[in-house]
Amino acid sequence: MKPQAQDLMHHFVSCGLLSDDQLNIIFEEEKSSTKQADQIGHELSFYTKDACLQLKAKFYDLEYIDLAHYAENGLICTDLQKYNNILLTLSSVVYNAENNKLFIAVEDPLDIVLKDSVRDAIHKYFPEINKILFAFGNLDKLTPAYHQQQTAIHVDKNEIISELDALIQKAIDYGASDIHIKPDKNTTCLYFRVHGKLVLHKTWHKKFEARLLSRLKILSGLDIAQSRMPQSGHYSFKCHNRLVDLRVSTHPTIYGEKLAIRILDRHKVRHDLQFLGIDNDNLKILKQCLAQKHGLMLVSGATGSGKTTTLYACLDYLNKSGLNIMTLEDPVESCLNYASQMEISRGVGYIDGIRSILRQDPDVILLGEIRDEDTAKMAFRAAMTGHLVLSTIHTQGLEGIVARLDDLGVKAHMVKEFLLCSMYQELQPKYHEKCYMKGCPECLGTGLIGRSLNFQLKAADL
Ligand SMILES: [Zn+2]
Repeated sequence: MKPQAQDLMHHFVSCGLLSDDQLNIIFEEEKSSTKQADQIGHELSFYTKDACLQLKAKFYDLEYIDLAHYAENGLICTDLQKYNNILLTLSSVVYNAENNKLFIAVEDPLDIVLKDSVRDAIHKYFPEINKILFAFGNLDKLTPAYHQQQTAIHVDKNEIISELDALIQKAIDYGASDIHIKPDKNTTCLYFRVHGKLVLHKTWHKKFEARLLSRLKILSGLDIAQSRMPQSGHYSFKCHNRLVDLRVSTHPTIYGEKLAIRILDRHKVRHDLQFLGIDNDNLKILKQCLAQKHGLMLVSGATGSGKTTTLYACLDYLNKSGLNIMTLEDPVESCLNYASQMEISRGVGYIDGIRSILRQDPDVILLGEIRDEDTAKMAFRAAMTGHLVLSTIHTQGLEGIVARLDDLGVKAHMVKEFLLCSMYQELQPKYHEKCYMKGCPECLGTGLIGRSLNFQLKAADL
């Protein structure tokens, strides 16, 4: 036993909480127990938990909180419910909050591991909280209502967890790119996007909606109390022994929050330039561009047209020549074991990211998107200084790329000198011939069996 813990027990004796005989029994018991001495004494009914916690608080010079004062009918005030929902399994309770400061009662504020878990959970979902103060508190004082309520949430949670897990698993197995949970007046509809087409997968009773949304919001680090503002977050889902990243975004509608989940299966099939469906002439020119030591290659196309897949295929092709390949993406859509991939986050934007990459002596840089003047200029600067830069840009059609660069303030002579090629692509639906596009179980009712690539390329003279 640690000397301090021993002192604590003697302190109990000097305060009259414990007799010498009882203390000896506790010490004897402790030899064969993993529990702390003070807890053993309480379990042997030598004193109440409350009395023990109060004395401990005094001994360690920490605060003791009588939770009964903060509870009504055994329940902590509902304003704090959002915090307490995420502390469900952590034996702790937020009893007060003010100015981004949280007051949390635990039965053992000396438990560093517990406190770290509580801090992590709170900061993950409520990053605005800048101070957490722990006090001794007897969580039993919140019984029975509080514990019953928590148990009730647990039961519902488990039901929702398995339902949710099953549907995400199904979406991944179907090769869906997105899941949409759309609230209607009386029902909640669940859609999968498969081969670019939305397919209704399931309709739920409205009563499941709130729990389903809360669960997804908690998992993806969103504020469950906020339903009027769009939010976005993400979490990892384990499936077939690999982690699939789920990007969750909410959107308030008149019937409640609509939720979209983008499925990023980063370990899905490798991308092979040969099999993307690019015609031979264009493929030959594309490979010539990829053989250059420096310059910029840009691909444009609508969202979901496979731009990133094309760029990944380019990187896979380049990988054969042993280059330092670095990426800056938002988000990372596929894990490339040969590249150093970095993700845009709250802390690191495109500009900081590119600057940092340039200090790492890269040969090839993949930039997720040229989205504004700054990124456009940075991309050209990188291309000018001896790097092969690949990126996407948003335009209508192939010809729009140069015009867009002009809009973004890139000088015409820069474009002429450093833009190796512009590409534009679309994915066109391939119809299922067996069911005459009507939809059958084989094509999951979509009438489609995939999509084919329509690819255009315009290259500079090399
Ligand atoms: Zn079919």
